[in-house]
Amino acid sequence: MDEKDIKKKLIALKKEVTHRINSIDRDIRHEGMTADWSEQASERENDEVLESLGNSSEQELEMIKFALHRLKNGTYFRCEECGEDIPTARLELLPFTAYCVNCAEKIES
Ligand SMILES: [Zn+2]
Repeated sequence: MDEKDIKKKLIALKKEVTHRINSIDRDIRHEGMTADWSEQASERENDEVLESLGNSSEQELEMIKFALHRLKNGTYFRCEECGEDIPTARLELLPFTAYCVNCAEKIES
């Protein structure tokens, strides 16, 4: 994987996630939709799901931006926590991760 490919991948991901966030926002605002009374209760539940989906997408977007920043600084392949190299296989799977497997597990738990 060279840096050009990674950058392309990250930019494509960024576009995808931005698009997802925008369409979630639109769904929450119910643009162009006229719900009758019986539909409104289930829509409210749906909104909560959409909102949490929106939040995790925002987080993902931040990580992608951070990854692009790290790529620019030449620190992309290094774990932000321990400074060890992040295995390429992991970066291929999660191109926006900033941590090696060990540190990610430590941080998440
Ligand atoms: Zn680490």
